[in-house]
Amino acid sequence: MTQFQDGPRTIFESPPAFGEWLEVAEGIFWSRIALPFRLNHVNVYLIDDGSSWNIVDTGLSNRVTRETWERLLSGRMAGRTISKIIVTHHHPDHIGLASWLADRGEAEVVMSGTEYLLGLTYWLDSDAMKANHYREFYRARGLDAEIAESILGRSGRYQSLTSPLPFSFRRLLHGDRLRLNARTLDVITGGGHAPEQLLLYCRDARIFFPGDQIMLGITPNVSVTPRNPNGDVLGLFLASLRTLASAIDEGALVLPGHNLPFVGLAQRVDEIRRHHEARLEDIVRFCSHAPRSAADLLQILFRRPIDRAVMELAFGEACAHVNRLLEQGRIATTIGGDGVQRYTSQPSGHSQA
Ligand SMILES: [Zn+2]
Ligand SMILES: [Zn+2]
Repeated sequence: MTQFQDGPRTIFESPPAFGEWLEVAEGIFWSRIALPFRLNHVNVYLIDDGSSWNIVDTGLSNRVTRETWERLLSGRMAGRTISKIIVTHHHPDHIGLASWLADRGEAEVVMSGTEYLLGLTYWLDSDAMKANHYREFYRARGLDAEIAESILGRSGRYQSLTSPLPFSFRRLLHGDRLRLNARTLDVITGGGHAPEQLLLYCRDARIFFPGDQIMLGITPNVSVTPRNPNGDVLGLFLASLRTLASAIDEGALVLPGHNLPFVGLAQRVDEIRRHHEARLEDIVRFCSHAPRSAADLLQILFRRPIDRAVMELAFGEACAHVNRLLEQGRIATTIGGDGVQRYTSQPSGHSQA
């Protein structure tokens, strides 16, 4: 068990093997699906509602994931129907196999409206990212043209990792209550990592499913995308975390999308808030010496060469910090003769997150 002096603490020493499960609370089971990335797994949860199974998140659409689910479905889950496939957000590691599982079990897919429609958009229009509008987003923020092309060239990736989006779904809104037979889950939605991520809180059992909104060990990616170039997504993310810290009991067991379950949500919120505030301060300091572009910021935010495979996320994260600082008035934009936006610290800018 990892014990933190004054921070969140894990309850389970190690995760279940892929395709196995661990009962983490009465009738709630934690399993893992392998991912072929540096982050090598996604957590999925099975909720026994007394008469059927409900699944939270699915893994990617690939052979390994299907085989893992086959083992679960024909093994420990056998004998009961699947009622609902609850998808926290549109990222392929969470929605990837939703329609496949729903078809197998004649189950209903449950999501927020924005996450469903965004996933559907990526699925239906895989070449949209090649439009000049998106190329211009990167150029105007100083990213090397060849690197930008490699990002735009990855546009078919969503389809390669995701089975076709389900033809229908049940839409949940913030404030709804999702009834799973005898259990009731409060629906909370939050922006930042994804626009309308679905988070579920079982108040009676003090169990919280935050998807990728909060986890131990890593901070979720919070990215500005060319579709919403001026959005303050980091502001949305931090506001969502503040909401969670006050809405969720500090003794609740948090069952995240990646890494280990833990207790101590408000303490983890505070760690993440301080992490982003330190990065914002780093940028303000860096931009006090000379005007800097978003591409210039990568060297101080990440302090190491960035792999091409994650450049889109890293650059989006740099832009998210820029947009937060612009919103706060702590930096200002100038546009040079080359058309690139550069940012300069503003002495009058205020400094709270
Ligand atoms: Zn995600
Ligand atoms: Zn994820």
